Amino acid sequence: MAVIRETKGSLDYDKVMAMDKQYVMSTYGRLPVVFVRGQGVEVWDAQGKRYLDFLAGLAVNGLGHCHPAVVNAIREQAGVLMHTCNLYHTEPQPRLAKMLVEWSEMDKVFFCNSGTEANEAAIKLARKWGKLKGSDAKFEIVTALESFHGRTMGSITATGQPKYQKAFEPLVPGFKYTLFNDIDALRSAVSNMTCAVMLEPIQGESGVYPATKEYLNAARQICDEVGALLIFDEVQTGLGRTGKMFAYEHYGVAPDVMTLAKTLGGGFPIGACLARGEAANVFQPGDHAATFGGNPLACAAGIAAITALHEEELVENARDMGEYFASKLRAFKNKREDVLEVRGIGLMLAIEFSAPIAKTIVSNCLEMGLIANAIRDTIIRFLPPLVVTRKQVDEAMGILEEAAAAL
Ligand SMILES: *Cc1c(COP(=O)(O)O)cnc(C)c1O
Repeated sequence: MAVIRETKGSLDYDKVMAMDKQYVMSTYGRLPVVFVRGQGVEVWDAQGKRYLDFLAGLAVNGLGHCHPAVVNAIREQAGVLMHTCNLYHTEPQPRLAKMLVEWSEMDKVFFCNSGTEANEAAIKLARKWGKLKGSDAKFEIVTALESFHGRTMGSITATGQPKYQKAFEPLVPGFKYTLFNDIDALRSAVSNMTCAVMLEPIQGESGVYPATKEYLNAARQICDEVGALLIFDEVQTGLGRTGKMFAYEHYGVAPDVMTLAKTLGGGFPIGACLARGEAANVFQPGDHAATFGGNPLACAAGIAAITALHEEELVENARDMGEYFASKLRAFKNKREDVLEVRGIGLMLAIEFSAPIAKTIVSNCLEMGLIANAIRDTIIRFLPPLVVTRKQVDEAMGILEEAAAAL
């Protein structure tokens, strides 16, 4: 306690760095910055330096930092009722569920606290679906190579990347991986033993790779042929990020199950697994639970976040600013010889270089006051808040160009 009181209000960079090193497990390769405050698209570090946040807390701060509606909702709800556990009813949970159902093709919602938990719920729902629909042999879940679904045992197994799995084997049995956007590969991986196909409409963590329309349409058809659920992991793509409320709207393909988190709480932790039709009634009392899931505080934040998304037309802004930003990135590409590709949809954008310079450029950007994310050595990912303005995009582009020129 003494240490906390001592550092409060006078956060000292060296002290925080030292405490982190001594007391926090080193699961993250953190960059040497201590952030203390945020407002909209801007954040400030312990030395008072300002940054443009074009990563938005890994797509969590979709409404920008400390959106007043979310801050007020949390303040208000925190003084009324934070938690009762799910043995009882509370008001914010069904209210948020109703909003999500009305915004999507889905019928019912299970609330949890993160993206990985939402995917665990989807995996369990699919396994039970297989038993109800087929037999004990209908348990296989097919996912894509280079996908990312989270860090718990079920979701790292679903994640088609050995680098996240190797140290933690044995994995959960019954998963199969196929090349993303390869319809034939998907078709041959799926059988009557498949209970679900789980996909990100746009692979985020591995480098921003959108699915093709043909692929998601084929996935829908293949799932229908064998009675498997189509699960879309929209933890990153959902809630306006791509310039539509949900990424699947770009494709005209609705999933049976959809997972959300990140933007959902406007900065506050909350996750959700949504399902429609028969899949919405698979879970029965006792099948699944989360002690904190859907607590009044998290749901009040979610209600405020979704309301603001709607009232401030942030999905439309994400579409417009996404187009503007992408055009600027393409102009940047045309001026340089080492840019292979600019890709993405809405405000989920990436730029890929032919040389391993992404980390150096991102570190230069940080130095100059722009937060971006180097995924692998050659790819920079941008996930600015959906409230971003044209002026802020221009400022970020200026920094990016300077940071790249400084190589
Ligand atoms: C971030 C992410 C997750 C994991 O979410 P957590 O809240 O970190 O557990 C899962 N799927 C996708 C597509 C993500 O981007």
